[in-house]
Amino acid sequence: MFSKNYSAKVGKKCNFSKIINGVYLILFLSFIYPIMRTLKRKGEIESLLENYRNNEKSIGFVPTMGALHRGHLSLIRKAKEENDICVCSIYVNPTQFNNPNDLEKYPRQLEEDIKLLENINCDILFAPDNEEMYPENEDEMSFNFGELENVMEGKYRPGHFMGVGTIVKKLLDIVKPNRAYFGKKDYQQLLIIRSVCEQYNIDTEIIGCEIIREEDGLAMSSRNKRLSPKQREEAPYIYSVLDYASIMGRRMQVTDLKDWVAKKISSNKEMELEYFEVCDANDLSIIKEWGYDQKVMGFIVVNMGDIRLIDNINI
Ligand code: AMP
Repeated sequence: MFSKNYSAKVGKKCNFSKIINGVYLILFLSFIYPIMRTLKRKGEIESLLENYRNNEKSIGFVPTMGALHRGHLSLIRKAKEENDICVCSIYVNPTQFNNPNDLEKYPRQLEEDIKLLENINCDILFAPDNEEMYPENEDEMSFNFGELENVMEGKYRPGHFMGVGTIVKKLLDIVKPNRAYFGKKDYQQLLIIRSVCEQYNIDTEIIGCEIIREEDGLAMSSRNKRLSPKQREEAPYIYSVLDYASIMGRRMQVTDLKDWVAKKISSNKEMELEYFEVCDANDLSIIKEWGYDQKVMGFIVVNMGDIRLIDNINI
């Protein structure tokens, strides 16, 4: 007969070795099935997602250009909450940059992004290269965005929405998600993408997500990483002007509000106003007078050196 003490010791040892074996098993499984799959080829992700679709799993998709921040992560969290499988893409799309300098300097940090995505349990990352997304001898797509393309980003960045439409259509064709998530920070882009889906009968629900800001009000953006300490210190001023415009806006004439914003921004030596527009939120038509019961938004682009910052607010 063993003493009680001896049995207790052996029992403890057994439990301990069970735990160790469990840990090894988890490490082994996570080696074979990494927590997040990173794929670079269209064919690979298409066949992986086909399996999920055949098993009736819903797919949520968040397209990005990387250099991820909390704004992007909020979209991924929402996609995870509302779907069985969450796919994120990282691809800096050259055709949407009308300024080659902006494309060259766009921040790229894939390894860091992969860690951020793994930390929030994103299931699949699609990170293709240019050859994969723009094979040679491919026909150009065509879009008709109507008036949406003639204001603000469409007017100031010629060809930009042709590039956005092309890449988003390609990505939606590859991922075929049930839902795709886009930030309202790029509000005009959100409406353009809804239009792409209408024009091509794409059966994906396009979901607009709220703007995530730094504590000081600056809208989060990958381009913020390029601001100098002085520029970063001044940048929240853009939101403070917008915020005031949102509160006071309707007490002024629309033209007076535009003049006031232009004057305020030009009073800051670090900033150059590209545009401030006041538009109907449904179709982005530029308004001249406040309409009763009309949803109106103010849209701003400010350049700080060669860094272009975009933001908007309800008025
Ligand atoms: P980007 O990587 O800049 O192409 O952005 C990818 C997606 O994240 C787009 O749908 C953006 O509108 C969205 N996004 C970027 N910044 C923010 C933000 N501060 N808050 C919410 N969504 C954002």
